[in-house]
Amino acid sequence: VQSQINPILSGQGQIRGAVIVIHDVTELRRLEQMRTEFVANVSHELRTPLTSIKGFVETLLDGAAEDPSLRDRFLKIIQAETLRLQRLIDDLLSLAHFEGRDNRPEVTSDNASYVQKAYETIKPVILSFAQAKGIKVEVDLPETMPPLLIGENLLSQLLLNLLENAVKYTTEGRVWLQARVGPDYIHLEFGDTGCGIPEEMLPRIFERFYRVDKARSREQGGTGLGLSIVKHLLEGMGGKISVTSQLGVGTIFTVDLPRA
Ligand code: ADP
Repeated sequence: VQSQINPILSGQGQIRGAVIVIHDVTELRRLEQMRTEFVANVSHELRTPLTSIKGFVETLLDGAAEDPSLRDRFLKIIQAETLRLQRLIDDLLSLAHFEGRDNRPEVTSDNASYVQKAYETIKPVILSFAQAKGIKVEVDLPETMPPLLIGENLLSQLLLNLLENAVKYTTEGRVWLQARVGPDYIHLEFGDTGCGIPEEMLPRIFERFYRVDKARSREQGGTGLGLSIVKHLLEGMGGKISVTSQLGVGTIFTVDLPRA
């Protein structure tokens, strides 16, 4: 706590009493600490690829460029690290965009096939990613659905982040997307037969930069920001996300989207 004491003086300047103000600053401190950690994380995540790019460019300039096979290998590393930086910056911008913002569109989406349409826009990316890993993608969406309180772009971003994760953390088997209409919400289920998430880590995966296996996420091009983007996006429109998982069996994310 933080406290402040002010004396109450009489007309003659004698102390008659005191006003004590006590502030509970627990929440403020917690937010300050989260902000400091976030800045430290961003700096670290940006510096790692930059250091690598700088090192390889210097080595090339020092003569490695004369050896064609070395040159190509180093240029490929530089390209991969540049892509990584780009993804990170894109994710940071999305996060800043959705955080603490009202994401409800002014008009409700009343086109019955909007989930299908949102899926069509990301389908090529997901299918080619899954195909490269030999994973089946099963999408089962009803022909018509009641109106939703979500814009089409937000819905595409949501589907992309969750389906990409499902494929990213699965080495064999399948990933699926199903929709079910409830009285207040439309429930989307994103499932996979992937590596699963240890139970004690489940509450933390929506935190910014939290990754169960840092090396695995990085190797697959992850930034550790995808789920926090999804969470903020949903919070801004009255939606919810929950997860169940079993190690070595798979993971299911359920997204509840409020009906209009
Ligand atoms: P990343 O860019 O690392 O994938 P996310 O914020 O999207 O970051 O996810 C955070 C972490 O949650 C991931 O690093 C991974 O450990 C875990 N995770 C997310 N989705 C899945 C999934 N479908 N299966 C297993 N682990 C997952």
